[in-house]
Amino acid sequence: MISVVSKTLYEKVMVPTYSPAAIIPVEGKGARCWDQNGTEYIDFAGGIAVNALGHCHPALVDALTRQANRLWHTSNVFANEPAIRLAQALTNVSFADRVFFSNSGAEANEAAFKLARRYGITTGGSEKYEIVANTNSFHGRSLFTVSVAGQPKYSEGFGPPIEGIRHVPLNDVDALEAAVSHRTCAVVVEPIVGESGVLPAEQAYLQRARELCDKHGALLIFDEVQTGMGRLGTLFAYEHFGVVPDVMTLAKAIGCGFPLAATLVKEEFAGHLGRGTHGSTFGGNPLACAVGEAALQLINQPDVLDGVRMRHSRLVSALKALGTRYGLFSDVRGLGLLIGCVLSPAWKGKAGDVVNRCLEHGLMVLQAGADVVRLAPSLVIEEDEIDEGLTRLAIAAMTLQRS
Ligand SMILES: *Cc1c(COP(=O)(O)O)cnc(C)c1O
Repeated sequence: MISVVSKTLYEKVMVPTYSPAAIIPVEGKGARCWDQNGTEYIDFAGGIAVNALGHCHPALVDALTRQANRLWHTSNVFANEPAIRLAQALTNVSFADRVFFSNSGAEANEAAFKLARRYGITTGGSEKYEIVANTNSFHGRSLFTVSVAGQPKYSEGFGPPIEGIRHVPLNDVDALEAAVSHRTCAVVVEPIVGESGVLPAEQAYLQRARELCDKHGALLIFDEVQTGMGRLGTLFAYEHFGVVPDVMTLAKAIGCGFPLAATLVKEEFAGHLGRGTHGSTFGGNPLACAVGEAALQLINQPDVLDGVRMRHSRLVSALKALGTRYGLFSDVRGLGLLIGCVLSPAWKGKAGDVVNRCLEHGLMVLQAGADVVRLAPSLVIEEDEIDEGLTRLAIAAMTLQRS
C-alpha cells in the first residue's frame, strides 16, 4: 500500500478524469500558496477565477467558522437565515428579483436551461424549446450543459445528447439572427468566453441578442459563472456591457472557494420553476451562504472594484512588454482580472508547457485552450504579489526562449 499522500497515490485512487500538476498545494494566504515541500507560489490562477479574495481571507474564515458553530445543514425542508439574507442581498445588487441556489456552475446553468424550457413550452407550446448558444462555449459538465456548449470533446460518447440546441459563433450577429426564431426559448452567452480563450463578447452582439429575445419571447441568459462577482471591475459583466439579461448564473467566485452557485431570475419568469419542478439537497446550504454573504459584502465595495481596473492596467502593460521582450505573447486581451495572453506563433499550441514552466518557477497560471495563457488572480492581490509574479513569469519566459 502506498502511504505517502502524493501524486502517485492520487493516480492510484482517483478516477483518471484530471491530470493535476506534480506539486500538491497545502496552504495558502492572500495570493501566495505553499506546497508539501514548503515551496512558495504566487497565485495568478485563483483556483480558476474562484478565489476572488485570495486564500483564507480572515473575514471569510470568520464567517465560515461562526456559521460552523451554529448550524451546518437543514435541507430545503427548512429555510435558513444565511440563504434568505444572501438571496436578498443578490437581488439588491442586481437586475434580478429571485434566486435559486445550487453548488456549482453546471447546476446553476442546468436550472437556468430547465427554467427556459418550462417557460418556452408553457408560453409558446411544445415546439418552443430551442436554445441558441455559442460555438466553443462552456457551461459545465452535466449532459444538458455539455450539449448546450456544443464542444464535441466534452459532449461526445455519452449516447444521445440533449436535442434542440443551435450553435452560432460568438459575435456573429447575422448567424444569431438566422438562428433565433419563435421556437427559441433562450439565448445563452458567456459575456467573456472563459475556458475557450478569454474572448470578450461585443456589445453589439449582446444588444442584438437582447432585441431578438424580446422580439421572439425568449429568455436572455448570461452565464456569469466566470465573469461575475467583480471579476471585470463591475460586480457583474452585464453592467460593463450595459445589456441586462433575464437570467444570470453565478458560481466560481460567489463562494470564494466554498462550493456555492446561484441562478438569478427576473420576477416575471421565476414562477416557471414552480413548486416541485427542480431542487437540490445542498443548494442554499447555510455554511455556503454565510460565506457568500461575507464575500459579496467585501467584493461589492468601490475600492475593490476600482482596484480590479487598476490591477488590470498594471498587469496588462507589464504582460505586453514581457510578451514582446521574450517573443512569447502576440496579444493580451480580456477585461478586469480575467486576462488572456495569446501565445505568439512560435509557441502556438503550447500553453500547457508555458503553464508548467511557470509552476517550476513559482508561479501558478492557467491555460484557456492550447494557445492562450489565462490569468484570473485574486481581486485584491497586492502590488508586491503582482510584481513578484511578473518577475517569475519573466524568468520562466527567459528559460522558454532558450529551450
Ligand atoms: C467554470 C464554468 C462553468 C462550470 O462551473 P462548475 O462549477 O465547474 O460546474 C460554467 N460556465 C462557465 C462560464 C464557467 O467558467
